[in-house]
Amino acid sequence: MTPKEVLALCRREEIKAVDLRFMDFPGTQKHFTIPVKALTEESFEDGFGFDASSMRGWQAINESDMLVVPQPETAMVDPFMKNTLAMTCNIQDPITREAYAKDPRNVARKAEAYMASTGIADIANFGPEAEFFIFDRVWFDQNEHEAYYHVDSAEGQWNRGKTPDGHSGGFQIRHKEGYFPMPPSDTLQDLRTDIMLTLQDCGVNIEGQHHEVATGGQCEVDMRYGSLLTTADNLLRYKYIVKNVAARHGKAATFMPKPLWNDNGSGLHLHFSLWKNEETLFAGSGYGGLSELAIYAMGGILRHAPALFAFCCPTTNSYKRFIPGFEAPINLTYSFRNRSAAIRIPVHNSSPASKRFEFRCPDASCNPYLAMSAVLMAALDGIQNRIDPGMPLDKDIYDLSAEELDVFPKVPESLDVSLQALREDHDFLLRGDVFTEDVIDTWIWFKQTHEVQALRERPHPWEFAMYFDA
Ligand code: GLN
Ligand code: MG
Ligand code: MG
Ligand code: MG
Repeated sequence: MTPKEVLALCRREEIKAVDLRFMDFPGTQKHFTIPVKALTEESFEDGFGFDASSMRGWQAINESDMLVVPQPETAMVDPFMKNTLAMTCNIQDPITREAYAKDPRNVARKAEAYMASTGIADIANFGPEAEFFIFDRVWFDQNEHEAYYHVDSAEGQWNRGKTPDGHSGGFQIRHKEGYFPMPPSDTLQDLRTDIMLTLQDCGVNIEGQHHEVATGGQCEVDMRYGSLLTTADNLLRYKYIVKNVAARHGKAATFMPKPLWNDNGSGLHLHFSLWKNEETLFAGSGYGGLSELAIYAMGGILRHAPALFAFCCPTTNSYKRFIPGFEAPINLTYSFRNRSAAIRIPVHNSSPASKRFEFRCPDASCNPYLAMSAVLMAALDGIQNRIDPGMPLDKDIYDLSAEELDVFPKVPESLDVSLQALREDHDFLLRGDVFTEDVIDTWIWFKQTHEVQALRERPHPWEFAMYFDA
């Protein structure tokens, strides 16, 4: 869509308000709204001012004025707001008019430009599988000294000694049996279909939806693959629609990676392939039907995985997902078909165009612009330096003995550890000025002080269970 077409769409749809959106640095969507008459063709050049010092990890108070510049190709009639057109924006400096280095969308644009400049590929395709939970109620009570939370699962927690809210009667999903149950056990069918259809109405191409393995209302709605920037833009749309459809059903959706102990967590598996001149570079005669280039791309991702985790699994909660037995990767290995490896090569479809591998480590608490850019940079490094991913692993990793497993590097055990890995290994991210030193430093500082240390300092609910009367 061009600016002219956006303005025509506003007239056709009787739009009265224009919602300007962007992704903040840690990965939360932000917005503010203008009346439609304030949007002109010039707005797409001039942008609109806002206070960037109130955004986490961005500007200092003495240089707080920044611009949002709406991007016409992201325009959509908002399905939840009254007579509103929504657009995703780039962030610009009002004086130099340069794209802001700490705008995640800018990092993604630079990653795509860098890829093209290497001549290796012209499109990096990402197919995301964002899992999430639907809960009946979630509430927090937070102050300086206390943090309590309470979660009621949409489908009851009979296996945790709680009675369900009653709406699902006697039809309970048993522990670990949440994959594909029929209604009435699956109480979330209509909700997921609402999500699926709303996404389609908003221009996101959907492949399907289903209940996921966890007992407590875990869901997945899969979108079709697309280029890095398009997929990241679509993931913003996806989260917004999932949360708002859930809210309309009187429920809460969360992408928190591991909300329930002893049940599956939620991942954001990324199906990845590189293309040039409309042909895949990934199909070949190597392991799993992959090309040599694809195997080196895996080598790059596995080599840099500990640092990648700082962007792909960027919350303290992310690391509670990496426990054996819950379909989340534990070892930094790759395998044809095996879902217990960090990288899996799917076999559903043997056509060369669908050749890809699935990086299973990320979760949807990430900033998708930064996470996918980092994955692409690691893959390009693997290709440029012909990094060998080592031997594949074709057994169920969960069943291997400790000695057999010892040869494989493990996923980092905490956010603290992956931030340290990023501190030591980020040269591959700086190429083409994609991630600047400032972006890396700010990320590590923000995550260390606001998340790692914030959690470390606070008494944890489970500490009460273990130690209260000790
Ligand atoms: N929920 C699992 C994870 O944490 C994945 C389950 C699946 O899609 N097979 O990654
Ligand atoms: Mg899936
Ligand atoms: Mg899944
Ligand atoms: Mg998957």
